[in-house]
Amino acid sequence: NATSAETHQKGANFTSGDHKAQQSQARKQLIAQQRKSLPIAAVEKILVAEVKKNDTLIIVGETGSGKTTQLPQFLFNAGYCTHGKVIGITQPRRVAAVTVAKRVAEECNVDLGQKVGYSIRFEDATSSSTRIKYMTDGLLVREALLDPFLSRYSIVIVDEAHERTVHTDVLLGLLKNVQHARSQSMVKQQNFDRLNGDSLVSDKEAKTQSIGGLKACQHAKHTPLKLVIMSASLDARGFSEYFGGAKAVHIEGRQYPVDILYTYHPEPDYLEATLITIFQIHLEEGPGDILAFLTGQEEIESVERLVHEHARQLPEGCQKVLTVPIYSSLPSEQQMNVFKPAPPGHRKVILATNIAETSLTIPGIKYVIDPGLVKARSYNHITGMESLIIIPISKAQALQRSGRAGREGPGKCFRLYPESEFGKLIDSTVPEIKRCNLSNVVLQLKALGIDDIIGFDFMEKPSRMAIVKSLEQLSLLGALTDDYKLSDPVGLQMARLPLDPLYSKALIMASDFKCLEEMLIIVAMLSVESIFYFPREKIDEARAARKSFLSSEGDHITLLNVYRAATECLKKSKAANRKEKTVEKSLNRWCRENFINNRSLKHARDVHSQIKGHVQQMGLVISSCGDEMVQFRRCLTASFFLNAALKEPDGSYRAIASSQNVQIHPSSVLFRTKPDCIIFNELVRTNQNYVRNLTRVDPLWLPELAPQYYEAQK
Ligand code: ADP
Ligand code: MG
Repeated sequence: NATSAETHQKGANFTSGDHKAQQSQARKQLIAQQRKSLPIAAVEKILVAEVKKNDTLIIVGETGSGKTTQLPQFLFNAGYCTHGKVIGITQPRRVAAVTVAKRVAEECNVDLGQKVGYSIRFEDATSSSTRIKYMTDGLLVREALLDPFLSRYSIVIVDEAHERTVHTDVLLGLLKNVQHARSQSMVKQQNFDRLNGDSLVSDKEAKTQSIGGLKACQHAKHTPLKLVIMSASLDARGFSEYFGGAKAVHIEGRQYPVDILYTYHPEPDYLEATLITIFQIHLEEGPGDILAFLTGQEEIESVERLVHEHARQLPEGCQKVLTVPIYSSLPSEQQMNVFKPAPPGHRKVILATNIAETSLTIPGIKYVIDPGLVKARSYNHITGMESLIIIPISKAQALQRSGRAGREGPGKCFRLYPESEFGKLIDSTVPEIKRCNLSNVVLQLKALGIDDIIGFDFMEKPSRMAIVKSLEQLSLLGALTDDYKLSDPVGLQMARLPLDPLYSKALIMASDFKCLEEMLIIVAMLSVESIFYFPREKIDEARAARKSFLSSEGDHITLLNVYRAATECLKKSKAANRKEKTVEKSLNRWCRENFINNRSLKHARDVHSQIKGHVQQMGLVISSCGDEMVQFRRCLTASFFLNAALKEPDGSYRAIASSQNVQIHPSSVLFRTKPDCIIFNELVRTNQNYVRNLTRVDPLWLPELAPQYYEAQK
């Protein structure tokens, strides 16, 4: 349990040599000091009292004031974890859940996964003794499937609510229901206790507990659920109104002045501009770390390589540059590096996605570089297609980003766009629920027993049309029955898998097509960004390396070949009885030689082992089609039939479902071949509509394998 873990750690620290003990003592003192100096430390008593007084409380506080790391500890100390109850803190981003949990475990002086833990999709670091649990908002929605009353939790803290991710919005709606149901059950319970002098509610009574239509048979002995909504945006009105006039408290932050600098003209290439600005700061400005906001892993890695190239040309005796990337699919062992101070003689350059905007506060930053862009989901109501696009940030985001430069002293923010552009930005980001495909949301709500999706009490209602489109899609996938109820077993199975409904369907399909082994690999590989990389200085070598995996049938089988080859390499070095470290090293070498992104491959391997566990639990049969690639391509067709496209006379494609004109992305192995009919997995919008991750299929397979759609179209 938690206490023994604490004593164990303390013991270990003192027995491992004087020097080490001193070091760890110093680190503990430093952490204690840091904690005391956070703005939130001064208001601990007030916050605890407010939580006690209010069932739902909204806390607004500047980024870095200590909300995420400190509040759960305050509440733990105030006794909210008695009787084994848990404090749950949700984050929109995986990286935040992981790094914050690690930090808080250290602050509490316990091993991660004991008193303090985290749980995110594909990774669980909790145990039965976990009391402070950080997790993604999506994961808590999933937990509600198994435990509709969220009965383990005494408090749920919804953090970073201003981000308004689709999961946060769904979660807020659910929590509102759960809170209501739990307090209702309390009232019933008290009445019952008064009548019977007994502490257990009868079965019949318990059966009448319902959450949004879901009749759950449970012991109805519930304590009320406390809710805390935390946000970095000053405007708490929306949340307060949604929760019936809930109280909002503000925590004052500390902010030094930040000089904002704009460019004179728009920058045609923001990556180039970022690179130039990094070195301009490095050579011309005083000490302090740099934080640059980029839009994704691919951009971060390419800027990282460019920085390394340029750094080699720095004059002798000049301070060195240390780059540290941070993005959501970075392997978790590498995520904490971002918090390590740069060694003497180095300036740290953090290359981050908007994870560093409000979710993570990294010490030491004095300069911020902001190209003013973000990668976001975008949804076309008419075609029902979702795509990823790079769009300008909002004013609120621009302010948050520049604020990162002024936490420890005056700073500078370099906005890579002219001042006139700032005025054109929208005030705040549109909630994601308004701009994404809702199939996943609809499926989960259905699985929770909430049948009337249109009537569900969302904080911001998605459009009726978007809901209807998702209902249609889900019935085409067989997840819903004709009267839009969750189907058994397909719908139930799909809801249980922590994947996009299309991918869940593909796994179930593949079990029938006897190629689940291959589909597991594909789903894992499609869950990560950029498996191949093409460094500018070695582009020919990299292309040659990809040739050895290339399948003329398309990207899916090419990815499959990479994964199989990597597995082969691992097998060989394991067979040679090498140590785990050596095995890992040889895989990394193999990746380097073959121009495979080892971070992405590692992530894909993790995802693979997780979803394999899920499908095994579900009892799906995992068999392989070996080299029968026709069978596999037929299975891809049967699964992704909604994403099929036919070639037009001019060499472009028409996506059948949406009638949209699309092009094959240059990164696809089919870019030059241009087959007559393809299925694809991703739509990316830049100046064009591009499709990525494609496979050549026979157009006749479509009506054969998806008659529910293609017969009806005729
Ligand atoms: P908020 O949630 O209000 O934005 P946080 O609780 O995330 O603030 O952060 C409080 C402080 O803890 C910040 O000064 C931040 O730099 C520090 N901090 C958080 N995580 C780490 C870490 N892993 N290593 C070092 N400092 C950290
Ligand atoms: Mg926070």
